[in-house]
Amino acid sequence: PKRLILLLGDQLDLKSAALKDFDLQADEVFMVESLDEAQYVWSHQAKIALFLSAMRHFAQSLKTLGYPITYLKNSPLSIIDALKEKLQQEKITQLVCMEPGEWRLKQQIEKLAVELKLQLDMREDKHFFCSRQEFTNWAAGKKEFRLEYFYRLMRKTHNILVDVDGNPEGGQWNFDQDNRKPFPKKGPGIIDDPVFFEPDAITQEVIAYVSKAYAKHPGSLEAFRWPVNRDQALEALNYFVEYRLRNFGTYQDAMWTDTPYGWHSILSSSLNLKLLNPREVISAVIDAWKKYSLDLSTVEGFIRQILGWREFVRGMYYLDMPKMAQDNYYEHQRTLPKWYWDGKTNMACMKDAIGQTLKYGYAHHIQRLMVTGNFALLAEVLPSAVCDWYLAIYVDAIEWVELPNTAGMALFANGGRFTSKPYIASGAYIKRMSNYCDSCKYKPEVRFGETACPVTTLYWNFLIKHRTQFEASPRTRLMTANLKRISDADQQSIVQHAQHVLTHLNDL
Ligand code: FAD
Ligand code: SF4
Repeated sequence: PKRLILLLGDQLDLKSAALKDFDLQADEVFMVESLDEAQYVWSHQAKIALFLSAMRHFAQSLKTLGYPITYLKNSPLSIIDALKEKLQQEKITQLVCMEPGEWRLKQQIEKLAVELKLQLDMREDKHFFCSRQEFTNWAAGKKEFRLEYFYRLMRKTHNILVDVDGNPEGGQWNFDQDNRKPFPKKGPGIIDDPVFFEPDAITQEVIAYVSKAYAKHPGSLEAFRWPVNRDQALEALNYFVEYRLRNFGTYQDAMWTDTPYGWHSILSSSLNLKLLNPREVISAVIDAWKKYSLDLSTVEGFIRQILGWREFVRGMYYLDMPKMAQDNYYEHQRTLPKWYWDGKTNMACMKDAIGQTLKYGYAHHIQRLMVTGNFALLAEVLPSAVCDWYLAIYVDAIEWVELPNTAGMALFANGGRFTSKPYIASGAYIKRMSNYCDSCKYKPEVRFGETACPVTTLYWNFLIKHRTQFEASPRTRLMTANLKRISDADQQSIVQHAQHVLTHLNDL
């Protein structure tokens, strides 16, 4: 009997487990462009365009290879309803798919299978190094989860940057201390731009469609140059390892006005759509290390992101869902300032990070964590509202990777299940890591009053508010040490000014 093979928009891999034993004579691939999916979050236009274009390119490759396929363009139905209709109309009882990245979809597919009495063959996603079961085994019995130990295990298990005895290459597991430099005072100098791709006919058609159908959605399509198929993704990878990897590590945390990409790889969207496999990314990095005699610190720093963080947050997502989406450790309830959606704020750091996000659908990790994320935490914004923004606005945003990063890492919404303390910083950190403060109306060192930097005010306010709690734990005790140097009167003025800032967030 015929089997229907469901491929989701982020499963664009010809080697996908779902296609493994495909019978060209009997089976059929099913793909849906669902309007519902694009509207369920208020997505950036470039994110919608990237998904649609990459899906259409992938469907075209499947057709060229002779796969029978039903591809529904612009379906008004949800993925599940479209699937249900297809299965019922053709009386198909066997459904094959790969485990979806998103928890919600997995539940929905399983429910549909029960409802329609389907034979469901949901296969493990071999894209990742660590299966869900392996992660669950690693996590068993632990109360706190730390990237570092998981990452070391991954290095050893997959024999990456370790010697024959399992010791780390270069004698240490972690080169973070070499990888936190700001750009030189004069600026970042010449950076080899990432490779980008002019839209082809398929992408142009998608862009024209999205700009009409999603005209009211945030973000711009003008700068759309993302890799939309495997060849382009491979080209982007090769370019990165040849020209940009050398400075990735050193300037991983550095920020500078109008420097949207720094030395970052810009590979997340290709990885998340599965146009690239993390194994081939890591081997390209290791080959380049040897070929160009790159520093181990940059190579390790990069591999940590892919083999460590990316696998770790995926594991945590499945371990903690659906609770992860609801957690609100600090019980924050404020609404997201409206300028997160249009970049219209006087805060130079936020304006630059949000401005480039609206233009490209991209910001690098430190901008996401220490600029927009830090502010949202200090401004006591409801975590789910912040998560909705991140999921909507970045071209690489898929819930399994967005949610743990936003709720878990940036907002401490789960009370530190996998981070030892909240990632909070004052304007002094942003001043050290960027040139943003030079052109800002506010002064990073001023804690209250008209010229006070809102990040700084809210940072001290946060510490004052949570002082007792921070002092009770050895992990956070040091964070409040500097409060001792601020007089009681000044602390009162900080709290007072913070109240004003918090009630006028939209006016900053
Ligand atoms: P690089 O800095 O070049 O890193 C290389 C690769 O490592 C990335 O392509 C990515 O695949 C992986 N990686 C790096 N950091 C992380 C991380 N913390 N978690 C998982 N993978 C990582 N990443 C997403 O892919 N999608 C998201 O929706 C997303 N949302 C985020 C939200 C917040 C609040 C924060 C703090 C981080 C988020 N990240 C997300 C992680 C990270 O910021 C992006 O992966 C990275 O900025 C993508 O740019 P790049 O490809 O140039 O990455
Ligand atoms: Fe951002 Fe404050 Fe610096 Fe302005 S002064 S750029 S608000 S950190």
